Amino acid sequence: MDFSRPQLTDDDQAFRDEVRTFLATHVTEEVKRRDRETGDNFDEGVHLALGAAGYLEAEWKTEEDGGFSRVRRRIWELEKRRAHVPWVTWGTTSMVARSVASFGSPELCEEILPGVFSGHIRLCLGYTEPEGGSDVATCKTRAVRDGDHWIINGSKMFTTGAHNCQYVFLITNTDPEARKHKSLTMFLVPLNTPGIEIQGLRTVDGDRTNIVYYSDVRVDDKYRLGEVNGGWTVLREPLNVEHGAVEAAVDGLADVSIMMHQANFMAEAVDKAGAVVGNTGSIADRSVAYRLGKAAARVEASLSAPSIFGRVALAQTMRDISPDLMDLLGSASALPIDTDGSIDNGASDYIFRFAPLVGIYGGTLEVFRNMIAQYVLGLGKPSYSPPAVKTS
Ligand SMILES: Cc1cc2nc3c(=O)[nH]c(=O)nc-3n(C[C@H](O)[C@H](O)[C@H](O)COP(=O)(O)OP(=O)(O)OC[C@H]3O[C@@H](n4cnc5c(N)ncnc54)[C@H](O)[C@@H]3O)c2cc1C
Repeated sequence: MDFSRPQLTDDDQAFRDEVRTFLATHVTEEVKRRDRETGDNFDEGVHLALGAAGYLEAEWKTEEDGGFSRVRRRIWELEKRRAHVPWVTWGTTSMVARSVASFGSPELCEEILPGVFSGHIRLCLGYTEPEGGSDVATCKTRAVRDGDHWIINGSKMFTTGAHNCQYVFLITNTDPEARKHKSLTMFLVPLNTPGIEIQGLRTVDGDRTNIVYYSDVRVDDKYRLGEVNGGWTVLREPLNVEHGAVEAAVDGLADVSIMMHQANFMAEAVDKAGAVVGNTGSIADRSVAYRLGKAAARVEASLSAPSIFGRVALAQTMRDISPDLMDLLGSASALPIDTDGSIDNGASDYIFRFAPLVGIYGGTLEVFRNMIAQYVLGLGKPSYSPPAVKTS
């Protein structure tokens, strides 16, 4: 790993300034306020502006394919994070667009990719079902062939962003008799198809996600991605990306783990708490200094942990330090962002409510700990069967 600071060329510095100005112009206080109100983590105006300026395409494409250089990509990522650009829907869109590029027909790619780059087409993830999400392959939503179409019936939980998207990347079961990993087929289903109903759902931190019902939804076979019953092959790559089970580039120009956007809120909350206890003088109390120092050290350690270890460390740290920060700051820290009287403008309250979700979406902390135990530490597959009863 290269820890040296990259020297920016004049061109790269000009790029950074241009990006900063662009984001400051478009990601206004009004955009951020509206985003908090809707919980959407998406702003269409900002998204279309990013598309029109060519930033979405440049981010999605590799340098060889005309996208950002490594240094510019890093500048772009950091500036977007600092500016608090609503990020969730672009995250799902860019991930699913890769599966479209890999598994879609040329006709489907032509229908989807230009709109993804302009910002007009957004894509969401339809994996989780009401009966469970950790075991993605246990899918009950059925797709049944009907000539050159498919009829889909079922329901999906937590389809985040569906109400701002045009297509959903949907896992279906096309062979209930088969073993679960051989029973799946993936579709990119247009969300304006009759029979689809999207119902909003708010989470404890104020985010919005959705339940989506599919009743006799008729989909053309051209929207199938990959082979019939070969959905697991299509899913593996996006699941790995979402899990963060990918190595960071060794040039030091990439996050060492996933969830850095979320971690940024945590680092800001610690900074704000530090400013408050410094200004009020309560830092003179050594227990306050100790607890604040411990929180800062935990944040730094989790920011440095790579791959899925980092993901677990960040989510667990957020869960552990947020109540402690609120305790240090007193009851006025329970007031949310933009509320008169809040002591840290809601920063610690926000991460307190956000932390449970960060340890659930894209896979729970328990599931990741099991993956580390099984695949990294080689401790074997967990057994959930009851202990054998001794018969004497
Ligand atoms: C804010 C938010 C946004 C989301 N967005 C999306 C989205 O856009 N698309 C989508 O498809 N899904 C989305 N999800 C769903 C998310 O991926 C699931 O919630 C997650 O995978 C867990 O599934 P579950 O909630 O069904 O819990 P379950 O799988 O039912 O698990 C219940 C409990 O059992 C534990 N458990 C389950 N299996 C194991 C195991 N093998 N080992 C140990 N413990 C286990 C879990 O840790 C958990 O505590 C979102 C969730 C949230 C909260």
